[in-house]
Amino acid sequence: MAMLLKDYQIGCMIEGCVFCKRKVSTRGHHVVPRCKGGEEIAPTCHSCEDFIHKTWSHKELRDAFNTVEKIQADPRFQKFLRWLYKQQPSAFFRTRRNRSRSSQPYG
Ligand SMILES: [Zn+2]
Repeated sequence: MAMLLKDYQIGCMIEGCVFCKRKVSTRGHHVVPRCKGGEEIAPTCHSCEDFIHKTWSHKELRDAFNTVEKIQADPRFQKFLRWLYKQQPSAFFRTRRNRSRSSQPYG
């Protein structure tokens, strides 16, 4: 699924995230950080990219977690995925529409 930057820019903007496989908008994540000479990028959603950068340093990403598969295989990432899949889209766009309209302050 990983592709070079130029291919990514040409198309495939809504391929979905290669890490969690959700069809959400993505941006390029450098599997090997660019400052370490990485060129290959993978479409990554905001949630996964956030987690990856909080969990591993650039050095670790370069030396040990330099492919999508290695990151996915890590127990920490799998735990994160289980959490992520429990989140429904409504968790991010929570509304009060199912409740009584009269209680809505912004009717
Ligand atoms: Zn993702």
